[in-house]
Amino acid sequence: MEMSRRAFIQSAVAGGTALTAFGFETAPIRAQAKTLKISRTSETRSTCPYCSVSCGVIIHTLGDRAKNAVPQVVHVEGDPDHPINRGTLCPKGASLQQDILNDRRLLKPQVRRPGSDHWDDIDWERAVDEIARAVKKTRDATFTAKDSRGRTVNRCESIAWAGGCTDTNELNYLVVKTMRSLGVVGLENQARV
Ligand code: SF4
Repeated sequence: MEMSRRAFIQSAVAGGTALTAFGFETAPIRAQAKTLKISRTSETRSTCPYCSVSCGVIIHTLGDRAKNAVPQVVHVEGDPDHPINRGTLCPKGASLQQDILNDRRLLKPQVRRPGSDHWDDIDWERAVDEIARAVKKTRDATFTAKDSRGRTVNRCESIAWAGGCTDTNELNYLVVKTMRSLGVVGLENQARV
């Protein structure tokens, strides 16, 4: 039976059998585990958003499975089963909890109008609508069907796309399909930078 390192340690702490087999006394470990702040948390696997390395993280949350309880992130650690970082995090990634719980974190879209000196909140529906209108207007005004030598190119060089390291393969697939259908040739992703 295949077993990850994480599952091995979890089963060892829970049952005590595996470590006992290696000659360790497991009672103190089990007692210690009951006092850990992550002993009652649920785990969510995610990706560190800070740089293109894209390290895997486990986010520990208290209360998100209980009725009438406000979920609270209490700990973030490297994912030992992730093929990129195998449990390690650099200092930036190790401070990810402070990014999640930061009161300056943006939770809604914002727009800065031409000539304005500040950003305004905007709801998602309006943001998507405005983006769609801007894309259509820009593409209609700048689409190139043929180049200077009469060759068909069907491209739009006035729109570009930049993705982030937390984008999934599935999202990136849809991005490429969508952008190519518009004729966009400038596609880039933080994970390549
Ligand atoms: S933990 Fe550090 S190296 Fe890994 S993705 Fe985050 S910032 Fe990059």
